[in-house]
Amino acid sequence: MKVLVVNCGSSSVKYQLLNMEDESVMARGLAERIGIEGSRLKHQASEREEVIIEKPMPDHKTALKLITDVLTDEKTGVIKDMDEIYAIGHRVVHGGEKFSGSVKITDEVIDTLRECADLAPLHNPPNIMGIEACQQLMPGKPMAGTFDTAFHHTIPDYAYIYPIPYEYYKKYGVRKYGFHGTSHKYVAERAAEIVGKPLESLKIITCHLGNGASITAVDGGKSVETSMGFTPLEGLAMGTRCGSIDPAIIAFLMEKENKTIEEVNNILNKRSGVLGISGVSSDFRDLEQAAEKGDYGAKLAIEVFAYKVKKFIGSYSAVMNGVDVVVFTAGLGENSISMRERICSGLDYLGLELDPEANNVRGKEAIISKPGCKVKAVVIPTNEELMIARETVKIVG
Ligand code: AMP
Repeated sequence: MKVLVVNCGSSSVKYQLLNMEDESVMARGLAERIGIEGSRLKHQASEREEVIIEKPMPDHKTALKLITDVLTDEKTGVIKDMDEIYAIGHRVVHGGEKFSGSVKITDEVIDTLRECADLAPLHNPPNIMGIEACQQLMPGKPMAGTFDTAFHHTIPDYAYIYPIPYEYYKKYGVRKYGFHGTSHKYVAERAAEIVGKPLESLKIITCHLGNGASITAVDGGKSVETSMGFTPLEGLAMGTRCGSIDPAIIAFLMEKENKTIEEVNNILNKRSGVLGISGVSSDFRDLEQAAEKGDYGAKLAIEVFAYKVKKFIGSYSAVMNGVDVVVFTAGLGENSISMRERICSGLDYLGLELDPEANNVRGKEAIISKPGCKVKAVVIPTNEELMIARETVKIVG
């Protein structure tokens, strides 16, 4: 049983073809620069060299057609024809309040997604384009949508309501939704397996630390609090996003810098976070190098990031009345030994101490806390595609 997982961004389509008999990846790739000059497709079939195809891709439908072509091509392909594919799983960013789990895609679901587009104007429209392109290219092929927001549906009202007039929640749905849900769910489930305890019995804090970053409190397998909010701008300082700041700063900057709301929005989304503080880079590899050479801005950005993660770990253990496992995942969480060290230093009061030798690990599953610690720290590479493929089989099957 083969499942194609599709993740459409505004100018890109990421895909993976998985064989669900053994959950292995048969092929993966990325079509990028869709709709702009220099479009190309990077495609890698399992255990074969990556191929790069440079071809104009004016829209998502052309990109997906090219993807189906490379998947079935004699040289680059891994299947004979698209009939071999059992179903398609789409990543959808925002499910609003309507979707509390993955769904089978129907015309009604697409209409509801359009209604949610207001809440995620950058993300949902390309997700819908991808779904419609697949419908046209592979009519009748069963499809499912897995939402970034769905896992956070269990967050209680007192945690998701903002202290602003309640009418804005009623009128426009202004509330915390949370994102990266598929990743938080995957690593929480995996963490339970790794520590050998039932998920229902565990209090887990999952730290998804990548270019976008968020933290979730998972109590008994359910998300009860998360750091991203109405949009993915809230919470931690990120690569280029500011995370939580005093909202009064927005009006202040508009006035002082004579900027429009769009311009300030752009600054907070694209020029803030660790890039904004350091002026060096949004990438922690560059920051770590610059900090080693004594760059003050880079050092400060790293400290700010770690400090905020630590504050969330403290507050989420308060939210759950304790914590059993802290998980690190995504680019930085999986790979940065020094960042994990920095975040976990001074958490011995919680019962968490890292084992320096065990923490000397990148990109693979490992328990990194000292043996016998009350709270276990674990590194788990996230796997959103596998989670989407599993959900797709569940929904379509
Ligand atoms: P993601 O968004 O999950 O792909 O994560 C991307 C981020 O992970 C990059 O911007 C880097 O800051 C960080 N990252 C990836 N590899 C490393 C590494 N070896 N050391 C430190 N940071 C890393």
